[in-house]
Amino acid sequence: LMTHDIMMINCILLFSQWEEISGLDENYTPIRTYQVCQVMEPNQNNWLRTNWIEKGDAQRIFVELKFTLRDCNSLPGVVGSCKETFNLYYQETDVEVGRNIRESQYVKIDTIAADESFTQGDLGERKMKLNTEVRIIGPLSRRGFYLAFQDVGACIALVSVKVYYKKCWSIIENLATFPDTVTGSEFSSLVEVEGTCVNDAEEEADNSPKMHCSAEGEWLVPIGKCICKAGFHQKGDACEPCGRGFYKSSSQDLQCSRCPAHSYNDREGSWRCDCEDGYYRALSDPPSVACTRPPSAPQNLLYNINHTTVSLEWTPPADTGGRNDVMYRIICRRCTWEPEECFPCGSNVGYSPQQSGLTDTYVTITDLLAHANYTFEVEAVNGVSDLSRTHIFPVSFLSAPSQVSEVIKERVQQHSIQLSWQEPEQPNGVITEYEIKYYEKDQKNRIYSTVKSKSTSATVNNLKPSTAYIFQIRAFTAAGYGTFGPRVEVTTKEESTGSGEQIISFCSLCRHCGYSKADQEGDEELYFQFKFPGTKTYIDPETYEDPNRAVHQFAKELDASCIKIERVIGAGEFGEVCSGRLKLPGKRDVSVAIKTLKVGYTEKQRRDFLCEASIMGQFDHPNVVHLEGVVTRGKPVMIVIEYMENGSLDAFLRKHDGQFTVIQLVGMLRGIAAGMRYLSDMGYVHRDLAARNILVNSNLVCKVSDFGLSRVIDDDPEAVYTTTGGKIPVRWTAMEAIQYRKFTSASDVWSYGILMWEVMSYGERPYWDMSNQDVIKAIEEGYRLPAPMDCPPGLHQLMLDCWQKDRADRPKFDQIVGILDKMIRNPNTLKTPMGTCTRPISPLLDQNTPDFNSFRLVSEWLEAIKMERYVDSFTAAGYSSLESVARMTIEDVMSLGISLVGHQKKIMSSIQTMRAQMLHLHGTGVQV
Ligand code: AMP
Repeated sequence: LMTHDIMMINCILLFSQWEEISGLDENYTPIRTYQVCQVMEPNQNNWLRTNWIEKGDAQRIFVELKFTLRDCNSLPGVVGSCKETFNLYYQETDVEVGRNIRESQYVKIDTIAADESFTQGDLGERKMKLNTEVRIIGPLSRRGFYLAFQDVGACIALVSVKVYYKKCWSIIENLATFPDTVTGSEFSSLVEVEGTCVNDAEEEADNSPKMHCSAEGEWLVPIGKCICKAGFHQKGDACEPCGRGFYKSSSQDLQCSRCPAHSYNDREGSWRCDCEDGYYRALSDPPSVACTRPPSAPQNLLYNINHTTVSLEWTPPADTGGRNDVMYRIICRRCTWEPEECFPCGSNVGYSPQQSGLTDTYVTITDLLAHANYTFEVEAVNGVSDLSRTHIFPVSFLSAPSQVSEVIKERVQQHSIQLSWQEPEQPNGVITEYEIKYYEKDQKNRIYSTVKSKSTSATVNNLKPSTAYIFQIRAFTAAGYGTFGPRVEVTTKEESTGSGEQIISFCSLCRHCGYSKADQEGDEELYFQFKFPGTKTYIDPETYEDPNRAVHQFAKELDASCIKIERVIGAGEFGEVCSGRLKLPGKRDVSVAIKTLKVGYTEKQRRDFLCEASIMGQFDHPNVVHLEGVVTRGKPVMIVIEYMENGSLDAFLRKHDGQFTVIQLVGMLRGIAAGMRYLSDMGYVHRDLAARNILVNSNLVCKVSDFGLSRVIDDDPEAVYTTTGGKIPVRWTAMEAIQYRKFTSASDVWSYGILMWEVMSYGERPYWDMSNQDVIKAIEEGYRLPAPMDCPPGLHQLMLDCWQKDRADRPKFDQIVGILDKMIRNPNTLKTPMGTCTRPISPLLDQNTPDFNSFRLVSEWLEAIKMERYVDSFTAAGYSSLESVARMTIEDVMSLGISLVGHQKKIMSSIQTMRAQMLHLHGTGVQV
């Protein structure tokens, strides 16, 4: 029985004949009793009352009385007045009241009679029998109550009064905990109780756990349940993690299962197992299937040529990779003879049944050109082929750029044609080059020539006069060449004696350069500034007396009705940043970011806010965030910018830690360098170049953003006041800019080096948690950041060059773009075996690293880099000296069970610095 809280009861004898008397119970244990026995006198009314009893949570109270009552017949000489019952009462109150008692305030519970009275014992002696009676009172509503006993002339001894209520004790049922619950107020009431899932369990969908506490203190009618979460299984009333090498992918599964073939895990509580190196799981593969790998190559390829048709036949690969979704695709390339260069066959060639997704082992290729040299490859692919190539990264990044379709004839002469074109709609990466292919239209054997260009225009020379030529253009990115765009026919001019040069009208150049933004107010100045196309310079909006004029000179005023705000995506210094759509008349609607100026702004705030637009509006480059326009003639005041789906680069990299190939990272850096080359060519000094101020779009194109004057820096949480006055983002800033505020494109190059380091370390904080003061000191003393993990040595060398003390020794952005382009074209230069990123030890480098000599113990070192949690792992594996640590490779670090990539990196990069320093200090010693 779930009883509770039996209270000690002291009774008060109220002007009556009740007496407190000590006696012995049946077992001869001393007890105290209250007794009354006024059987000789008529009209008795003797009251005995308890002390005040607080009821707590209880609503229904049980009163158990133990008493003896003498049988009137057993009392000789009593007549009439002797009674064999007494009355039980209660009174509810919120507080203790005095001793005064008025009978009328009491509620009668019952008249209590004895079941047994004195009886005759076997041996004739009179034996006292104890009666037990239980009564229930309730529902009670006040804070407490009194009980009272009224004697009307009986002979009673009250031995005990037990007052209690019932509750259901806390239990665990179906993996849910139900708390202690007091029963309801009525005999028939059930109290419904919600259960709480035990640790590592969750409620079953639409079936939350409930139980019912009965009036008798019993749990009844369990409904619903909790189940162990993914990674945990039930053991008794608890959920325990799946062991190593086991997993449970869903809460619905009952048991943990052993990792499927070619997968493993070394953690407890896993919801899935990771694939072994070289094995993958397709997106649609559930965690229960084995990890698989791409198939091997198809075998026994046979071909048969019939005019301009080729049939290919092959047999399936020896190894299907463990999957049954092997399909084939055909790669067709047409190659020139001298020099041998191959190009994708393009869409003019037909495939039967199709080019890719082939399930049968044959294909027929039609519409080939006669007398041409073709190469065919049959590739076997399965559900994990793409994963083995690009890992988790969206495949789109590696797709080649789309077609270059909008080609304009800029100038046509007798011997040359100048063409310009638009960047393809989907560049799918950073375009490093365009290839222009051309041939004489009427020539029978169609010999192609090609010209390459790094920009979106090119002049083709050495052409014949009055001749029709066909041109086609394609773009090149790290993913390779895109397909050629449509054929464009242009006929050269007739031979003539005059100069024949076509004068390009000024306006067409303006249009070409994209400087048609000015509205009425600024036209005059615009013509003046762009008199010499190609030498555009940045104009500081602060030089304008009227800042409104600057805005309208460089930014298009948009009609607010063309802008649809969709949602808030961030907070800027002046107000919310939203995403939305911009639909200009006659144009497709585009996604935009909209920066708003909050209401109640001052004139100065408005000026500073629009200043960014005045600066951004002067730029037009694929790697500089593009300004669509401003709304200044309505409220709120807005700046509308192209939308960059992936937000700022630092956060983006942290989110995708370790997921990109080096080529992809270098592609991003190349884009940023190109944007900076453009800005520095215009004479614009950024002053706050850092990953947090680069935006990334859905094609992974990185664009420089955050323009402004002093306010950019004011806005930057990284910027701090220095002794030279003004706020400076110390970690990103060149020495001369910190020391005497010398901000130039060369100081931007320094910041670019830091940005490179941020990118290659996936958003690690430069100089980790060193203080700004220590960073300045270390830099002045010659310390430079070591190479991030897996960073190709060539890239780290480029960073070190950007951090040359003498700014004249740093590379220019133009050179940086050139170096990165070379790396992208020769990916072999970017190869670094895991964990063997060695660096040239320059005398500048590491000379004054935080002194590893000051640590004697491995634990001191780990503490200094905030990795002290691994002290035991290092000790257990026998790394007792810093010398032994300095020899560790990334595999060694991983074998300690350090599975977090960020921690691996932090430790490795500190080890590398330590190694370099030891080498420097001791000359020889540690083998690097
Ligand atoms: P800002 O005031 O420029 O620092 O912008 C505040 C935040 O808004 C940034 O950190 C970004 O997350 C977001 N943001 C700003 N401009 C854009 C944009 N063009 N596209 C997408 N998000 C943006």
